[in-house]
Amino acid sequence: PFASMPSSTTIKLNSGHEMPLVGFGLWKVNNDTCADQVYNAIKAGYRCFDGACDYGNEVESGQGVARAIKDGLVKRSDLFLVSKIWNSFHDGPRVEPICKKQLKDWGLDYFDLYIMHFPISLKYVDPEVRYPPGFTDENDNVTPGKASIQETWTAMEKLVEGGLCRSIGVSNFRGVLLMDLLRYAKIRPATLQIEHHPYLMQEGLVKYAQDEGIAVTAYSSFGPQSFLEMDMQQAKDAALLLEHPDVKKIADKHGKTAAQVLLRWATQRNVAVIPKSNNKDRLAQNLDVLGFDLQDEDMKAIKAIDRGLRFNDPLNYGFSLPIYV
Ligand code: NAD
Repeated sequence: PFASMPSSTTIKLNSGHEMPLVGFGLWKVNNDTCADQVYNAIKAGYRCFDGACDYGNEVESGQGVARAIKDGLVKRSDLFLVSKIWNSFHDGPRVEPICKKQLKDWGLDYFDLYIMHFPISLKYVDPEVRYPPGFTDENDNVTPGKASIQETWTAMEKLVEGGLCRSIGVSNFRGVLLMDLLRYAKIRPATLQIEHHPYLMQEGLVKYAQDEGIAVTAYSSFGPQSFLEMDMQQAKDAALLLEHPDVKKIADKHGKTAAQVLLRWATQRNVAVIPKSNNKDRLAQNLDVLGFDLQDEDMKAIKAIDRGLRFNDPLNYGFSLPIYV
């Protein structure tokens, strides 16, 4: 019954716009299947898509959206489309041109939300040379850029003023960086996107952001699952959250799957989620995570799983960018 249910429940952002609590993540969605996956996700009821320059599939994501609009499944205004600026485009004068390129790739006039992917400035790589560039420059070195976060943020504010983005946000920031940004931001970040799952709850950071009126979006809600695909040792060493006995016990009690419990644990605390799947049944179950409530004892049992275990750290990919040390 939920397969056609749109994710109607939203978070009101400090920009005045509404962001769906459940979206679809586009990282590691293959180019050859991406357009179909986006189309099918819209058909299943997804309205929010979390893309990025770095995911290398903005053209195909846009094709899926265009087909859904053409077939009358949705209007552009029904969708909440997110992209992110990559580290190598942080220099102030580079921000608008790259945003415009990304919009053109998607075939859009505006992004609903444009996020600073990492608080890391890297040396510019010409899109003609390599796109998306990843963490390394033309000589395969990790070379820092010169832009401060203030320079990049100020340029992102201009995107809102120019109508290219409705809201702007940040990702992979810790409390101290948010504190600094809030000192000079004319437009406050609408959202903070962070790694967030029972192994890495970051309760203090979530509370600080939410208290400041910044909506929190969780990525990698299933913990190690996503990083097994990357062959990451830290993920292989960790027990699967989807198989965790306490999570499974709670799932059985509510007649839900472990994945639904992990997503509901976030959404129940007003943390948005953006899971990814290309399986029809999982697409539907991941969207159906607002219609039941975990009990206090369930929340307590999940809280006990926390162990500050982070997977998406540049150091874990072998890049000497110690942003979390
Ligand atoms: P995820 O937590 O969504 O996990 C995806 C994995 O879980 C896949 O292997 C998928 O097959 C499996 N899965 C999905 N639904 C399932 C279900 N119902 N039951 C069992 N298994 C299921 O991982 P993610 O892709 O790392 O994170 C989600 C999104 O967050 C990304 O696609 C991306 O958009 C975003 N993200 C952002 C950043 C950032 O730096 N801002 C980093 C990582 C991810």
